[in-house]
Amino acid sequence: MELNNQKECLDLAGVGVGPFNLSVAALLETNTQLNTCFFEGRESFSWHPGLLLDNTNMQTMFLKDLVTAVNPQSPYSFLSYLVNQKKFYRFLSAELNCISRHEFSDYLAWASHQLSNVQFDSRVEHIEYTGEAFEIQTTQGSYLAKNLCIGTGKVPSIPECAKPHISDKVFHAAEMGLRDRDFTGKRVMIVGGGQSGADIFLNVLNGKWGKVKSLDWLSRRSNFQPLDEAAFTNEFFTPEYVETFVGLESSVKQSEIDAQKLTSDGITQAALLSIYRELYHRFDVLKEDKWVRLLPHRSMSALESKAGSFSVQALNALSQQAEMHEADIIILATGFSAPYPQCLKSIMPMLDLDENGRYGMTENFELKWEGSAKNKIFAVNAGMHSHGIAEPQLSLMAWRSARIINQLCQKPVFDIDSDKGMIEWVTESLVTEYAKAS
Ligand SMILES: Cc1cc2nc3c(=O)[nH]c(=O)nc-3n(C[C@H](O)[C@H](O)[C@H](O)COP(=O)(O)OP(=O)(O)OC[C@H]3O[C@@H](n4cnc5c(N)ncnc54)[C@H](O)[C@@H]3O)c2cc1C
Repeated sequence: MELNNQKECLDLAGVGVGPFNLSVAALLETNTQLNTCFFEGRESFSWHPGLLLDNTNMQTMFLKDLVTAVNPQSPYSFLSYLVNQKKFYRFLSAELNCISRHEFSDYLAWASHQLSNVQFDSRVEHIEYTGEAFEIQTTQGSYLAKNLCIGTGKVPSIPECAKPHISDKVFHAAEMGLRDRDFTGKRVMIVGGGQSGADIFLNVLNGKWGKVKSLDWLSRRSNFQPLDEAAFTNEFFTPEYVETFVGLESSVKQSEIDAQKLTSDGITQAALLSIYRELYHRFDVLKEDKWVRLLPHRSMSALESKAGSFSVQALNALSQQAEMHEADIIILATGFSAPYPQCLKSIMPMLDLDENGRYGMTENFELKWEGSAKNKIFAVNAGMHSHGIAEPQLSLMAWRSARIINQLCQKPVFDIDSDKGMIEWVTESLVTEYAKAS
């Protein structure tokens, strides 16, 4: 392979520039002399562009930005952004408990376009290991790097029964805002009861894409469930908890993750209340004829196309019966999955995967693989099974980036020593006694 763009070997190449790798890039640029480059396929920064809808807000606080938790002096903090954009005082006067996704996205784009180690319009197509370094083939040429940081994010997850019908009438929520839509006079169904489903529901309800004939919101969950944002719940999103989590048995890890689902995968109280109030106003105050149905406890099990519209079979977990529903437009707010990045194809056989085919990961977010003594492969947003529920969230991204950089540099570039947490998750002496007894 001819390496036409860069003769020298990068210390680290990043693959993908979403918020997570952007955080690594921002901290590397200000705190190290390393030669790094982060490659992003898109022409400019964009953060889930199809879901940047009206009235959508962050689930996390703005101080959980790219850098602040480990380097509050960084020029790439959210506060620096406010000052640079000359809106600091108005931001304070607005008394925002949570900011809009539009503003956080604008902040991320602002940071990304200042960083000299981020390269847009450069999709990584293939990575080959030479035994000494990685050869990285991008749409803009080839590069060599000693180490990698994979941050390619997730892709829309589409239920099997919907796959044959994907079109402008049946599509994933991630596509929602990417083109003009007109739902006037249509029967619209939203499938999925998480935050994206709620955001789209509220926008359809408010006529964002025209006055619909009817609106159904179908969810497998037992109700439209709130995000658990209580004070002690937030302890799951601390370095101390993650450090404890990493040392747990893998079956215990899985049951913790299952039990904590609503700490990151529920709907914010603010969104639920907006929806409830809007429904109350329309149907109990203005007395509109009912054109909205809330349908929890149902799983979509079959989808058939019928003369330009769709017939949806849903299994009702309460009645234990199959129900039939009709719709003209079906929006799949059915979440995201994380396939292995295509560009890692030739490296995959060298990776140490667990019995479920998931990446083996060290506590420092390094993939376990056969070349790790010489060359490191880090991955962000790829280890919920190993690091817990905070892994796909923004809460700890700056801390995780600092941990990666300390490991890459083999010295404490950032002081990330843990303090005592509020909760004592594991008491060492008792663990030893229990282990002896069993
Ligand atoms: C609508 C939405 C709202 C969210 N809101 C919150 C929130 O409020 N708080 C919170 O904590 N979490 C939130 N999350 C969860 C999480 O923080 C985000 O999904 C976040 O974007 C994950 O960042 P990432 O960097 O892993 O991936 P992504 O943001 O998906 O970025 C990955 C990037 O990699 C690029 N890429 C992929 N393959 C290649 C390749 N081969 N070569 C080059 N580039 C490539 C893609 O183009 C993309 O830009 C939200 C998620 C969604 C979907």
